[in-house]
Amino acid sequence: MSQVKNAREQIEFLKSLQVLDKEIHLLSQEKNGFPEKIRAIESSLEAKKKGIKDADADLKALQIKLKENEVSLQQKEEQVKKLQVQLYQLKTNKEYSTMTQEIEGLKADNSLVEEEIIKLMDEVEAVKKKIAEEKEIFKKEEDAAQKEKDVIGGRIREIDARMAQLTAEREKITPNIDKQLLASYEKVLKNRDGVAIVQVEDGACGGCHIGLPPQVVSEAKLKENITTCGSCSRILYVDDDVEIN
Ligand SMILES: [Zn+2]
Repeated sequence: MSQVKNAREQIEFLKSLQVLDKEIHLLSQEKNGFPEKIRAIESSLEAKKKGIKDADADLKALQIKLKENEVSLQQKEEQVKKLQVQLYQLKTNKEYSTMTQEIEGLKADNSLVEEEIIKLMDEVEAVKKKIAEEKEIFKKEEDAAQKEKDVIGGRIREIDARMAQLTAEREKITPNIDKQLLASYEKVLKNRDGVAIVQVEDGACGGCHIGLPPQVVSEAKLKENITTCGSCSRILYVDDDVEIN
């Protein structure tokens, strides 16, 4: 309880102020939640982008491996051709059979390389398809994210406009309130989720719901002074038309 002139009138001003401050508090909370929301949207997009980048790197590695195998196949095929020409210039059966074996060995190697090339070509196609699909999905999500960000931007502009109105209305009321009382009201407002003045409800504080001593309830009804809740420090009042037991 603190001493203040015209407590009854001051309480009425505080009640009007509280209506505005409640809305200001809710709007600030809503606005404060947006940066986190935007960060979540952006980090989800970033993760998708990184997935596509990784797939691109996989594709490049596969394409390099494919090229290496193609070069190796070509070299071996040329070697086979060269040996086949030399085959007819050989003098002995032994030389002939050694070179024939060498040619057969190279041909066997080549068919393995050919299998590898086919396998790699399939893999390249599969990764290309996957990248194309992921890019498609990414594009859609990017559009959706942009829409969502536009909606948030629109809401922020609405909130700012409403906040300006509320602040202007607030400035009409505050000069009527005792400076010290206003300061303590604002302190409680800040610490108690935007609610600094509450009605007594069934003998309890309408803010923290803790039971109040009957004397405090009577004082809140009398409004000769400013009565506060011993638990949450909120300013208490009982409307004149409310009966107390
Ligand atoms: Zn309380």
